[in-house]
Amino acid sequence: MTTHFDLIAIGGGSGGLAVSQRAAEYGCRVAVIEEARLGGTCVNVGCVPKKVMWYAATLAEHFDMAAGYGFQVTASPVDWGQLKARRDAYIERLNGIYAGNLERKGIQRIEGRASFLDARTVEVDGQQLTAKHIVIAAGGEPMVPTVPGAEYGITSDGFFALEHQPRRVAMVGSGYIAMELGGVFHALGSEVTAVLRRDRALREFDGMLGEQLLVQMQEDGIRVETGCVPAALERVAEGLMLVAEDGRRLGPFDSVVWAIGRRPRSAGLALDAAGVASDAVGFIPVDRYQNTNVEGIYAIGDITGKAALTPVAIAAGRRLADRLFGGMDGRHLDYTDIPTVVFTHPPIGTVGMSETAARARHGDDRIRIYTTKFTPMSWALQSRKVPARMKLVTLLPDERVLGVHVIGEGADEMLQGFAVAVRMGATKRDFDDTVAIHPTSAEELVTLR
Ligand code: FAD
Ligand code: NDP
Repeated sequence: MTTHFDLIAIGGGSGGLAVSQRAAEYGCRVAVIEEARLGGTCVNVGCVPKKVMWYAATLAEHFDMAAGYGFQVTASPVDWGQLKARRDAYIERLNGIYAGNLERKGIQRIEGRASFLDARTVEVDGQQLTAKHIVIAAGGEPMVPTVPGAEYGITSDGFFALEHQPRRVAMVGSGYIAMELGGVFHALGSEVTAVLRRDRALREFDGMLGEQLLVQMQEDGIRVETGCVPAALERVAEGLMLVAEDGRRLGPFDSVVWAIGRRPRSAGLALDAAGVASDAVGFIPVDRYQNTNVEGIYAIGDITGKAALTPVAIAAGRRLADRLFGGMDGRHLDYTDIPTVVFTHPPIGTVGMSETAARARHGDDRIRIYTTKFTPMSWALQSRKVPARMKLVTLLPDERVLGVHVIGEGADEMLQGFAVAVRMGATKRDFDDTVAIHPTSAEELVTLR
């Protein structure tokens, strides 16, 4: 077996696979080291199984809407076990496709855990591998709070391992995962309590989004506990009790899910042996070219602590390979205006600056905001209504669009195209001059006054 390569990727997730495949396309000798399943977080315990569950949850909502359209549909409760089995089988197929792709591209797949011996050498199960370029793409893992009884709870990894649907669930956290998985549980029939340590959700986004989401969640019957900092988790005869710092006792629950953020998987890499610097949390700082402090060692994806999203890891990896092997000097990922979707019910799509960030950066008198709130037409025949809200953040004098923020049906598929417009520097006038597509929700974004 070859032990010297042009490029070694540590981690066969979104970033590691992307950089490896692009490098191999340039004719490089490449190895990918992966200790678990190919595809990493996104494919195995992230985006992909999550989106399957979101589709199931959305279908459950549509069953509820069917009567409004004249169908007599009585949906059975979801067969969680069957859904999981079908989802797992799909992911196994994807794992196989990834393995096939590596083989076809002549990339050596090495199974096991990698750690550095020095700046050019990594070790996997006693075997030494060297390369001129080593890319650290080891991703992250869910955090669990350091409170007594925390081990009784599960994380998003545990969510995907659930064989049975818990009836009573507490989702602890206020970011993407808490909001997404809480929504799935609720739509599929669990009783959900959302436990937020502050009074807002999705704080890093425009305030309108988290605010509307919490209103909708409560309207839908999710119990929202704000200002609730977990202090302990207790196992009692009826289930799990979550005890808050202020003495509140919530529960009993069948399942408590910690969704309080993710930490980098840098601890086992022996970064010191290669002289690679990491910050206090373990994230690996990089410059705009993904260079670490050590020449020939790069980091991409979640381990860098920047925009922990699959397309970001992929884009950073591909651009790195383009720069190193494709003759594209200076090629790098621009981390501004990265669009993102939170797969809640309804979904959220957002790109660019929040209103607060724009006002702070440019001053109140240079910012003009356009907003709308309406009920998408799909709810017209329903007694239940789920409103949509939209916001454009623009910069005077020419009203360049700095941010587009949407919560509402279809937001997930709406934002990609608007993200192109924002990147290109579109103005409100460009939006206005674009003919609407009718009848859609998206048309509201080009008819805002
Ligand atoms: P990973 O995909 O985590 O890959 C790292 C790999 O490295 C892992 O397979 C790991 O086993 C391996 N590894 C680690 N250390 C070693 C070692 N020492 N030796 C060998 N192998 C090692 N992003 C989106 O864009 N859209 C979504 O909808 C979305 N949903 C998500 C839902 C959930 C529940 C979660 C948890 C994440 C979600 N994400 C989503 C985020 C996305 O999954 C990550 O941003 C992405 O997977 C990061 O890619 P990566 O290559 O940096 O790391
Ligand atoms: P996030 O960072 O999105 O949110 C975690 C939140 O939990 C924090 O913002 C914080 O909110 C709260 N929190 C932190 N510590 C505690 C604590 N001790 N007790 C209670 N609450 C706490 O992390 P997630 O785990 O939700 O997701 C990780 C990352 O994965 C995301 O940031 C995203 O990049 C990616 N992801 C992307 C998805 C997508 O693209 N659709 C889906 C899922 C994940 P506050 O400070 O307000 O209290």
